Amino acid sequence: MKVLSVNAGSSSLKFTLFEMPEEKELISGVFERIGIENSFYTIKFNGEKIKKETELKDHKAAFELLVKELINNKIVESLDEIAGIGHRIVQGGSYFDKTVLATEDNISIVEKLSSLAPLHNPAAVVGLRAAQSVFPNATQTLVFDTAFHQTMEEEVYLYPVPYEWYTKYAVRRYGAHGTSHKYVSMRANEILDNDEARLITCHIGNGASISAVKGGKCVETSMGLTPNAGLMMGTRCGDIDATILPYIMEETGMSAKEMDTALNKQSGLLGISGVSSDSRDIEDGIKNGDERCILAQKMYVKRIVDFIAKYYVELGGCDAIIFTAGVGENSISTRMEVMEKLACLGVKPDEERNNVRGKEALISADNSKIPVYVIPTNEELMIATDTYNLAK
Ligand code: AMP
Repeated sequence: MKVLSVNAGSSSLKFTLFEMPEEKELISGVFERIGIENSFYTIKFNGEKIKKETELKDHKAAFELLVKELINNKIVESLDEIAGIGHRIVQGGSYFDKTVLATEDNISIVEKLSSLAPLHNPAAVVGLRAAQSVFPNATQTLVFDTAFHQTMEEEVYLYPVPYEWYTKYAVRRYGAHGTSHKYVSMRANEILDNDEARLITCHIGNGASISAVKGGKCVETSMGLTPNAGLMMGTRCGDIDATILPYIMEETGMSAKEMDTALNKQSGLLGISGVSSDSRDIEDGIKNGDERCILAQKMYVKRIVDFIAKYYVELGGCDAIIFTAGVGENSISTRMEVMEKLACLGVKPDEERNNVRGKEALISADNSKIPVYVIPTNEELMIATDTYNLAK
């Protein structure tokens, strides 16, 4: 069965087509600048990458073009071969603890949750509607970034703010990157041959979050109501003293919108270094002795270590620490610095093993009390797997 994994943004559409249950990736790509001028798309298959410039009026036009490419490249003979389409949804609120069919009732809940994810949920619904019109016979599913975190207890997900903020405005911790945390924790349980493993999964990319997972269930996660909580990230601040906001707003006359931009787009590695949000640029800056890059990296690593320590206590120990996503899979120095700071928990890095990028690997020494792994994430495959299980 062929299953398409879809991630729709307001002007973009990412896709990966899998042969399931073999988990074979057939083709992947992205349509960009949908609905604006200079639109184009790139596709990858058979080890080749092709870029084409073309008009893309809307998401439906992108799906129609995808069908043409699939047929022209003999990946499918007819679009009916695509039996399932899984759509990534950023915010599922308290309504969804697993992947569900895209029924009208479920879609209307996703739309209702748009106030909690104004940039993402409406765009995902636009993508879904387009997919429904181009692939009317496929089983369409909704795969939520928040679903994996729905197992958190009330005392973990509630904030100590007036209780009415929760009951009236749904203010609580929802978490993010759930599909990734679920994927790498399932893989870690397989590697450890232990379904009950206590894991600390570190999804460190441009956005970053850490989860405490026990027996395949999320106990706690660092993201909150929005994806700007917990760790310091590329451009997001993560946890800060909330009262900084009214203080700076009163001092500078900044509006709520401007404050939101400052905390989400001008903070984190970029805000402290003044150089870049990309950890590769920070690494270069450190090599050149840039003091603000050195400081930014110290702050970044400290916050990762803080959360690992917190979750070690929460889980009552830890059977493995996992690094994944852009920085987690590729930044040898960030992983090394984190592992070195965890020496008091008995973590012992292995320099040679840690010299790896983008590949599954054990990176701690044999006598490390907690094994540390790199496990490349594959959210697209997780979306396809859930969709396959519902469609079959
Ligand atoms: P993601 O959001 O998971 O796609 O991660 C993107 C981020 O990964 C980039 O902004 C970089 O900070 C980081 N990254 C990617 N490649 C490398 C690399 N080779 N070394 C260090 N960091 C990297």
